[in-house]
Amino acid sequence: MTDKMNDLGNFMQDALNDAAANYQHDLQILPNVKVMKMGGQSITDRGRKAVFPIIDEIIENKYKHDIIITSGGGTRARHSYQVGIDLNMPVGVLAEMGGAITVQNARMLQMVLAKHGGIFLDHLEFEKIPLFLRLGCIPVMPGMPPYSFWEDIPDFGSIPMHRTDCGAFFTAEALGADTVYFIKDEKGLFTDDPKKNPNAEFIPRIHVDELIEMDLGDLIVERVILDYMKRSRFVKKLVIVNGMEKGELTKALNGEPTGTEIYV
Ligand code: ADP
Ligand code: MG
Repeated sequence: MTDKMNDLGNFMQDALNDAAANYQHDLQILPNVKVMKMGGQSITDRGRKAVFPIIDEIIENKYKHDIIITSGGGTRARHSYQVGIDLNMPVGVLAEMGGAITVQNARMLQMVLAKHGGIFLDHLEFEKIPLFLRLGCIPVMPGMPPYSFWEDIPDFGSIPMHRTDCGAFFTAEALGADTVYFIKDEKGLFTDDPKKNPNAEFIPRIHVDELIEMDLGDLIVERVILDYMKRSRFVKKLVIVNGMEKGELTKALNGEPTGTEIYV
């Protein structure tokens, strides 16, 4: 290596060290925004009987809160993973395939919300969120985080570990919101999947460390979020509500205890 290149290398390293030492805090871009994930399997796949009532509740709340909806994948995403895995598709391809399903779900949710300001928001239009909120719109984003072909390597198999729960989490984190709302079809988190185990016990509130420690066999949110929570700058709460029960989301948005709160 020449002396010149060495000097440049040292300069760059010093600049990075200075930047790290001078770090203060991240900008909270839109701290009051309410980011909510509409469950794919748990809500959208159930069709009108589940979707229309929760959409009505969201519309009722839009005058009080700035709402962003992210979509889930659900059964079609699971099916596409199954076919993809059978054809030996690597994780990045599966992430793209699952992501395409969340575009479908976001499109439908946007259309049913269209009369009330629902607007489809591609990931590339992230910077337009403030404009749309100011116009009274409800941005609806495809829930899959756009890691796409660059999806991280999972410990096992090839199902992307960053799916739509993660997409909602990172949307809230990027905007500086302290809570992410997950609209699902159960009261909240239980000690086991209540659909399979009738003895599963409801957990109204739990610290993320305690939840990691419990090492539950099955969770209602993607497991990887728990690790991210420990490093999050802004998101301090995951609130899981039952979208099949009228009023639960409204209570959660108003800060009243309901469903499950996973906090850090
Ligand atoms: P989404 O529709 O948002 O993708 P999922 O179907 O992935 O949601 O996850 C929600 C489902 O997770 C619930 O319907 C429930 O049957 C299941 N589940 C698994 N483990 C648990 C648990 N420990 N507590 C509550 N629900 C659980
Ligand atoms: Mg899921």
